[in-house]
Amino acid sequence: MTDSSLLSGKLLFEFQTISAMVEIYCKAHHCNKPQNSLCESCDEFLAYAETRLDRCPYGQEKPTCNKCPVHCYKPKMKQKAREIMIYAGPRMLLPHPIMAIKHLLAERKPAPGKPPKEASNRHLRKQS
Ligand SMILES: [Zn+2]
Repeated sequence: MTDSSLLSGKLLFEFQTISAMVEIYCKAHHCNKPQNSLCESCDEFLAYAETRLDRCPYGQEKPTCNKCPVHCYKPKMKQKAREIMIYAGPRMLLPHPIMAIKHLLAERKPAPGKPPKEASNRHLRKQS
């Protein structure tokens, strides 16, 4: 699992969940890489996901991406995210049961309204 020096709290947890999914996905689909690391394109995807989380206007109140009214991923990355979720989502329960269950619970929350002002992790980070 990859860690993030930018994120904290819920956003960090979400990043760790995504990184665990990317690992499962990459391991099964991309073999030409050193052991226990991601291939270049999955690594790039994870870095992109981290930036998106950092800039998410909901900050710590972030809904799951499925429920979110803001579509912040560019199309290519969105497509890759979908592929990763479809493959790794159901495979998360065994290796990472707590992450999988927390994510499922979050999915049941209703879609949020407009994001609050200046709540993104990036904004708060720049202030301190
Ligand atoms: Zn890969």
